[in-house]
Amino acid sequence: MRVPDTGPFGSNILIVGEAPGEEEVKQGAPFVGSAGKLLKHTLRSNGIAFESCYVTNIMDTRPPGNNFKHFYTDYKRTEPTQSLRNGWNKLQQKVKDLKPNIVIALGAEPLRALTNKRSIGRWRGIIIPALNTKILATYHPAGVLRQWSWQPIMSMDIGKAKRHSQTRGYVEPQVAITLRPSISDVLSWCSKVDKRVSLDVETIGKNIRCIAFATGDLVRPRAICIPLMKFQNQGGYTINKGVLKIQAGGTETATSYWSAQDELIVMNTINKLLTNSSIEKVGQNSTSFDAPLIKHCWKMIITNHYLDTMHAHHELYSELPMGLDFLTTMYTDYPNYWSDKVTEDDNSEWHYNAMDAISCYVCSYKIEANLAEANMTDYYFNHRHPLVLSLADAQYEGIDWDNERCKELIVEQEARLKSYQEIIDSIAKEEVNVNSPAQMKQLLYTKMGFPKVVKDDKVTTDEKALRALERKFPDEPILDAIIMYRKTSKLISTYLKAKTDEDGKIRTSWNPSGTESGRISSSKTIWKTGLQMQNIPKGISRGVTNIRDIFIAGKTRCLCQNEST
Ligand code: URA
Repeated sequence: MRVPDTGPFGSNILIVGEAPGEEEVKQGAPFVGSAGKLLKHTLRSNGIAFESCYVTNIMDTRPPGNNFKHFYTDYKRTEPTQSLRNGWNKLQQKVKDLKPNIVIALGAEPLRALTNKRSIGRWRGIIIPALNTKILATYHPAGVLRQWSWQPIMSMDIGKAKRHSQTRGYVEPQVAITLRPSISDVLSWCSKVDKRVSLDVETIGKNIRCIAFATGDLVRPRAICIPLMKFQNQGGYTINKGVLKIQAGGTETATSYWSAQDELIVMNTINKLLTNSSIEKVGQNSTSFDAPLIKHCWKMIITNHYLDTMHAHHELYSELPMGLDFLTTMYTDYPNYWSDKVTEDDNSEWHYNAMDAISCYVCSYKIEANLAEANMTDYYFNHRHPLVLSLADAQYEGIDWDNERCKELIVEQEARLKSYQEIIDSIAKEEVNVNSPAQMKQLLYTKMGFPKVVKDDKVTTDEKALRALERKFPDEPILDAIIMYRKTSKLISTYLKAKTDEDGKIRTSWNPSGTESGRISSSKTIWKTGLQMQNIPKGISRGVTNIRDIFIAGKTRCLCQNEST
């Protein structure tokens, strides 16, 4: 049965869903079921009455089993059926006829029907000019009911749509970008920075490929991308996660963008800007990434590193994503400038670099205002930000590592591992691989007849299961041997064989925004060296050797313990 559209023809807002569900068919109106309830509530909380919007669906009939896949010929939804094609065409014509100020596309299907773009995660929250109006896609309320962490994001997107519903036509936010600068461009651009500048670095491997700065008026910020290297020919290579790979037959190598003499002037100019303490520096994750890299590569130390947008945003909204793409959708009206970036193409990379700096610059003011509104200015600037900077320093410094002691411990622990393996093999009367869950299940439950331990409907031999068995059967040596084998094996692989950096030091990557609860987290570095440094075994429990003495404070320093919750 067909479910007709609702709402006034002259509405500024057109809402597009996928297709009616069971309840919609019963009542003969769109969005009257549970997804509709959530949609109406979210609209209302953003000052929009559902009844004031024109509401339609791509398809006006319910697909069998409520499954929109039915309108495609294949499982992967590449080929639409003719009826879906008709639905797309009808919908596009409707948008042109109704001329709303904004169209809210609920979910991936309306996004695709209206803009031919895929991936709601990538395109949500962005004003897309199409069909002589503005399209803003957000998560479908039925999806939000399944994934509740999307609820504040959907609400925020609808708030953005409300703002844009008040004006007709798409006006692209203005920016002034200097690309391919000459030496005088760099000098003159940098000389005009006064209050605040954002910075953003792009890399190839551990080298800085280009650096962008943004400053000025928030209505029309200006940015410059200063390249340090350039590629002679575009193509013949790929860059994946910052690593340059020459393809077969390719010969691409980067050359300096500047002459030696000009590079010196450029470096001096950048240094002056970064060390000018009366200019506030802001960046996205710049405390942990850009600043340490600049210090490492150029020996420049940023002064007045005023705010890190990533960490400041996380303080405000710890449950929301914190990448700059997300921040851009939340705090600005900039288009999606990142999805189509071609890293192999210098011009594309430089433009992206400049836009990142611009978005971060604008975000920094919005976030600062939000901190003030939430009464968190003092907390962020006097507590959190100094902590973020200190952690970045600790990460940069690293800790001395006693390699000799480490080697001794590896020999010692590998001998223990061998002795546990021998105990296990002799009881099993065959060689067993303790790291294989299948072999462990076979040995303990089938061969030796221990009662099966079940977790989430699955038989398991994880640590908890072994400990439970050990409590029940304290005289069975095999259980203890397996537990000790695993413990020792982890000690060796996670800690004793952790990779030190080129300077022989051990590092961890501190993440002050690594948890929703506000606690900091740590992990290996982005170069896959080091280790998570918050759980280094103390060596006071049975079978654990003290490995903390491998970490050395250095001659003039001492390691201290801080117990804080
Ligand atoms: N979901 C939709 O996409 N449309 C409706 O009308 C109801 C639920």
